[in-house]
Formats: sequence, C-alpha cells, structure tokens
Amino acid sequence: MKNVAVIGAGTMGNGIAHTFAQNGFKVQLIDISEASLKKGINTITKNLERMVAKNIITLDKKEETLNNISVYTSIKEGVEYASLVVEAATENKTLKFQIFKQLDEACPDDTILATNTSSISITEIASMTSRPDMVIGMHFMNPVPLMNLVEIIRGYNTSDEVTNLIMTLSKSLGKTPVEVNDYPGFVANRILIPMLNEAIETLFNGVAGVLEIDTVMKLGMAHPMGPLQLADFIGLDVCLSILNVMYDGYKNPKYAPCPLLVNMVNAGKLGLKTGSGFYDYSKTRKAEHVAKQFS
Ligand code: NAD
Repeated sequence: MKNVAVIGAGTMGNGIAHTFAQNGFKVQLIDISEASLKKGINTITKNLERMVAKNIITLDKKEETLNNISVYTSIKEGVEYASLVVEAATENKTLKFQIFKQLDEACPDDTILATNTSSISITEIASMTSRPDMVIGMHFMNPVPLMNLVEIIRGYNTSDEVTNLIMTLSKSLGKTPVEVNDYPGFVANRILIPMLNEAIETLFNGVAGVLEIDTVMKLGMAHPMGPLQLADFIGLDVCLSILNVMYDGYKNPKYAPCPLLVNMVNAGKLGLKTGSGFYDYSKTRKAEHVAKQFS
C-alpha cells in the first residue's frame, strides 16, 4: 500500500497528508476548494520547516515529503490509483454520505475507504457503498504529525482483514492504534466532548470566566490546555456536530449542546480557524503561542 488519497485539506486533512507523505507514501490531497489546498500545503511546509529547525528531520526529508504530495480538486482524478482513501472533509453526515457514494464509484474495487469522522456512524457511512466490509474509521488526533493515537473504529461489517491491515499500517506511521466499536462518539469524543460542553455550560451559567475555567483545569487537573481553549482548537462547529450526533444517537439529554455553543457557531465564531472563539486569535493564530500567553 503506497498510494493514499486524502479527502479534505483542512485542519486534519493536511496533517494526515503530511504524516503519510513523511512516511514514504505517495499522497493525493483532494479538496473542493483551491484556497484550502493552498493553505493546506502552506501549513505542511511550515510544519516541516519547524521540524527541520528542531533537527527532527533533514532538509532532504522535508523536500522528499513535499514531493510525495500532489493536489487535486476532483475526487475522480485523485483516487484513480489509491489503495487507501482517508476522508477528512467537513463533519457533516449528508456530505460524507455523498463523498462515500462518489468514492465507491470512482475507486478501484480493492481500495479501502477510511473516514476520519469524529462521531458519525462508520456503519451508516459504509452502507452508502457496495463494500461495507472495506470501510473503517481511522480517527487521527489533532495535530496529526504530533499526536500518537489513532482510534480505529470497526463498523458493523468491517472485515477482520481490513481491520488488521489498518492497525498494521497505523503502526508503520509511528502511531499507536486502538481498536474500538462503532457507537456515537466512539471512545475519545464520548468522554472528551461532554467535558468541553460542561466547561461551556459553566461559563454560560456565570460560574466563572474563560480564563478561570481554563486555569482550574490546567493547574488542577494537569491538562496541557484548558477545555475552552481546546474547544477553540478543535473548532466549535466540530464540537457542536459531535454533540448533536451523540444527542441523536443515544437520545440522552446529557449530550445536549450548550445554547452558548450553538450561538457562537451561528455567529461564525468557530475558534482558532476563524480567528475568534473563546479567545481572540487576531494577533496570533498559533495555538502554542496563545497557550503560553494564557499559561
Ligand atoms: P476543516 O473545516 O478544517 O476542513 C474540512 C475541509 O474539507 C475543508 O478544506 C473543505 O474545503 C473540505 N471539503 C468540504 N467538502 C468537500 C468535498 N466534497 N470534497 C473534498 N473536500 C471537501 O475540518 P477538520 O477539522 O479538518 O475536520 C475534518 C474531519 O476530521 C471531520 O470529520 C472532523 O470531525 C474530523 N476530526 C477533526 C478534529 C479536529 O480537531 N478538528 C479531530 C479529529 C477528527
């Protein structure tokens, strides 16, 4: 397996493309937006330059990694020779269903179709295709080049063979894969996102301010980042989508999104990626600088 197509060049897609390319895979990075592709390649280049400056990789490795990535705006052209597709487009059920129908038609019969969805049912996504045994969740963590975990989600029909292959492949990327079953939110987000929602609810109820809430969790619980900053970092729209999927899936009010989160998403305040969320990123968009500023 040497040819991997990545759908979506946003926060996650560019990190996934970077990781595969740095490990010697030929990557076709596909996005409907030319601007996203340009931004994605810029982010990969900057991250590689940072790794060179820190002596983590050589200059040659940086060039080799960039040369391994080609960009496309058409799914059909980008997936033609892919052995694996990792879909990392916007967290929207209808959109992902459309993309998987398209992928099923455009990809060779033996192509494995993976999704980086944070919460949408792998089994339901797989049902859009004629190869549900070859559809699997490959949930990378943000930022992908730095985070070791990949949650590997088996859909109801995912075969043992495909699961084992993707587990092995993830290890070859230097990651630690953990196999989980397909229920809303899987493991990581089922535990994390309600905690972030509770932090937003705490702010909404006027119990404490943004800095106070984040400081309590950083210093009191040894979290590297406060929950409100982490929500900004993930994207408030992504947090809201995950909560809605869990709320619908479990029919349990404990997953109901806080009205403040809904309001902020409606107002276009999505966190780091829009320059404003619980914090203001207009002076610097670099999360690590903001983290230092508030530590
Ligand atoms: P993002 O908004 O940063 O990027 C999404 C990209 O998808 C955009 O560049 C958009 O142009 C592109 N896109 C939309 N429709 C497309 C289509 N039809 N074909 C090709 N590209 C299309 O989103 P993100 O944060 O990178 O999230 C991507 C996926 O990863 C989501 O499923 C999300 O739940 C999941 N995820 C996100 C995080 C996180 O921390 N942000 C972590 C783990 C998983």
